Amino acid sequence: MITAAPPALQPIEPEPADWKRAWRDAVRDPRELLALLGLAQLGAGLSQAAAAQFPLRVPRGFVARMRHGDPCDPLLRQVLPVLEEERVVPGFVLDAVGDGAARAAHGVIRKYRGRALLVATGSCAINCRYCFRRHFPYAEETAAAGQWREAVAAIAADPTLHEVILSGGDPLSLATHKLAELTDALAAVPHVRRLRVHSRLPVVLPERVDAELLGWLRALPWPVSVVVHANHAREFDQGVDAAMARLRETGAVLLNQAVLLRGVNDSVDALADLCERGYLAGVLPYYLHQLDRVAGTAHFEVGDDAARALHQALAARLPGYLVPRLVREIPGDPGKRPL
Ligand SMILES: *Cc1c(COP(=O)(O)O)cnc(C)c1O
Ligand code: SF4
Repeated sequence: MITAAPPALQPIEPEPADWKRAWRDAVRDPRELLALLGLAQLGAGLSQAAAAQFPLRVPRGFVARMRHGDPCDPLLRQVLPVLEEERVVPGFVLDAVGDGAARAAHGVIRKYRGRALLVATGSCAINCRYCFRRHFPYAEETAAAGQWREAVAAIAADPTLHEVILSGGDPLSLATHKLAELTDALAAVPHVRRLRVHSRLPVVLPERVDAELLGWLRALPWPVSVVVHANHAREFDQGVDAAMARLRETGAVLLNQAVLLRGVNDSVDALADLCERGYLAGVLPYYLHQLDRVAGTAHFEVGDDAARALHQALAARLPGYLVPRLVREIPGDPGKRPL
């Protein structure tokens, strides 16, 4: 017989102050990061130049998921500024995806039919070494700058746009009331039918998925998808699982996009683990991206033939719904190009 009150089923939602504190508290000193992991001896492999150009930044909760004493840890490799970045490799350029040209002053990029990508902000909670953003870390051409007016006007002026994609930087690095300002304005645009949010925060700073954010998501007038960016199974832990559960409770569809990265996830085991682990958290794989050929990232590259072979092996191992599409972004293409 059950006499006691059942335990509370509602997961505890963090307070807004929590994520802002965790955000500010991020590790920014490469030597401190190495010391925390018992890897002080790797100091000689650090690149001052790379760190000066694109500083280290990593939330402590993400550091806690790194393996102590493992110089090859796949999470560490994604954030540590290393000497390999100084190598100049032909074909690896500053603006690899052509966004510099496509980006309008109001922060709206319309490259693909029906979809507008809105560069909501330039900031991120984590600095990923493989990212194009390393060369535009302080990008000011964001849609938030003009209180969204120009961006919303650009979307309203094009009735073929049915989906608005919030991107960045990381759009969830904006305060929730700022996001609400934007979606309130977008709600007046009748041809907008879907909203998509691309964010690494639910993975790297799950505290961001707080009551305020959930309230905002629940109140949106469109079907919402949230594309999280995890590259390795070990980026998931209990805190991330709980954040994903809270997100799913709002009715949002959760998808994952990963980048194929040498030394991080370039094995069938690592990729299969990522897809299966994501599914446990309620996230379906969406894209597996070939690296954008951005200056300083050549050591992460996996050749196209190797990428195809990995993808085929993955498809042979997993059910179809757990196999992401292997794609590359080519400037000028009408969509991501399948490999
Ligand atoms: C990747 C991208 C999209 C979204 O493409 P999907 O294939 O729909 O995920 C939209 N606009 C731009 C500019 C992009 O780079
Ligand atoms: S945009 Fe995404 S991949 Fe790039 S630094 Fe920010 S979180 Fe990392």
